[in-house]
Amino acid sequence: MGTDLKLREVVNDLQCLGVKILKPLSARRGGAGPAEGQVIIFKGIPVSCPVASAFVKDSPYVIERNGAGHILKKYEVDIGEVTFPSTPRFYQRKTADGIPYSQIAIIHGIECLASTVFQRCLNWQTSRCGFCGIELSLASGYTIPLKLPHQLAEVAEAAVRENGVTHITLTTGTQGDEINAFRHLASCVKAIKEKTGLPVHLQFMPPQDLNLLHLLKDAGVDTAGIHIESFDCRVLTEVCPAKARIGIKRYQECWKVAVDLFGRNQVSSFVIAGLGEDRHSLIEGSEMLCDRGVYPYILPLRPIPGTPFSSSAPPDPEYLSSVYQDVASLLSRYHLSWRAVKAGCVRCGSCSAITRFEEN
Ligand code: SF4
Repeated sequence: MGTDLKLREVVNDLQCLGVKILKPLSARRGGAGPAEGQVIIFKGIPVSCPVASAFVKDSPYVIERNGAGHILKKYEVDIGEVTFPSTPRFYQRKTADGIPYSQIAIIHGIECLASTVFQRCLNWQTSRCGFCGIELSLASGYTIPLKLPHQLAEVAEAAVRENGVTHITLTTGTQGDEINAFRHLASCVKAIKEKTGLPVHLQFMPPQDLNLLHLLKDAGVDTAGIHIESFDCRVLTEVCPAKARIGIKRYQECWKVAVDLFGRNQVSSFVIAGLGEDRHSLIEGSEMLCDRGVYPYILPLRPIPGTPFSSSAPPDPEYLSSVYQDVASLLSRYHLSWRAVKAGCVRCGSCSAITRFEEN
């Protein structure tokens, strides 16, 4: 590296401050959970960085052309070369029923295929999570409202063959009829597994009937994401009213069933830093997760244009660095690691620096 910056500090900085790219490439503008980002590959690892939000103009980081390649600079000082993942060829193709593959699933990071199975959410009109852009992608025409099992299997097969993807992430908006929703999710997972055999990660809200998790296990789900987002009750009530109504007790019951089914270290929860939370709640909540065998996937708020957080900024990198250090110590103490995770966001690691903080 051109300076004495550590890799983990650069990744954390890039995700908190964003990076100016002199010639913007195509970037995600919506999606479920964290979105609005451009993946860059730096020192061999994929890093999803904000590039389009207002705060990015103040970032000291810039990516410039450097001969045939690109270089990352901080305050005009060279940090190192970066590359961009190439656009997958399969994005140009259409399913047998005429849907562009790119509207069914896209590559996240460098080797994860990701899709939002239900692109609408029951809570969108009245009590959506303030940071989420799930229906914005739909409105922009980048995707379709519902992905079918055979469509996902067809795209997954092409992504394995042409791009060497090694795992799959499926997420979903919340549906009113949870039995039918879980059956559909299970069918999607089964179809993908039958076609590719790849490990599949599925993200969902705790259902009223926790027995529905058995459907997912039987379908072949390998890892589960059950995301509380914040352990600060005030923040959760304000930002994620639907999750606050479910309540922490129900999340704990769901995590327990999930860990019993999928195993320690194979269940995770997003914990977002930068929502105005009390730091103590974040650390205490992360320890509670670790104690239950659940991986706390700490990640910075990613303000998505078009959401209530669009004019917010991610947290201060120093604050997040101190959080990462404390949570990495917890992960070590409870013998949890991203390295053991079979599929999903924790394995991909593009949206958080926690994996880098685990390393030292
Ligand atoms: S960490 Fe998750 S949301 Fe982020 S790019 Fe990877 S799979 Fe997608």
